[in-house]
Amino acid sequence: MTIAIGANGQSGALLRRVEALSGQRLAQCYQCGTCAAGCPFAEAMDVLPDRLIRHLLFDVPGVLEREALWVCVGCDLCAQRCPRGLDVPRVMEALRLIALRTRGDQLPVAQIPAAALEDLPPIALVASLRRQTG
Ligand code: SF4
Ligand code: SF4
Repeated sequence: MTIAIGANGQSGALLRRVEALSGQRLAQCYQCGTCAAGCPFAEAMDVLPDRLIRHLLFDVPGVLEREALWVCVGCDLCAQRCPRGLDVPRVMEALRLIALRTRGDQLPVAQIPAAALEDLPPIALVASLRRQTG
């Protein structure tokens, strides 16, 4: 069983972007809730992974503002258990990338003070570069 998307059969722009970035076809999700049931961080999420997918499928506003995107640690448990073979962590990562692009709060390396560059751990620089490419 798959969920019909959109009243007129048209998927939303955000859904298309997420599918393009993640390589997942979200209409394959049949909302069994297995991903949410096994997620070790479910209690800290403002919306569970299965609901997030449903919101994407039905163009529910506010998906990119959800804290759940940043609570997910990409542990892969949900992907291992999904009976439809959906890679939910990839979906979460796609949403984070789109959220970062939308916010436009990247930190260009050129704007980091030289003194700070000496003290910053390498991972901070990597994260900065990743945001610029995200
Ligand atoms: S486990 Fe898979 S099919 Fe079930 S709700 Fe989650 S993503 Fe959808
Ligand atoms: S990858 Fe994210 S959503 Fe999936 S089980 Fe782990 S923390 Fe939960």
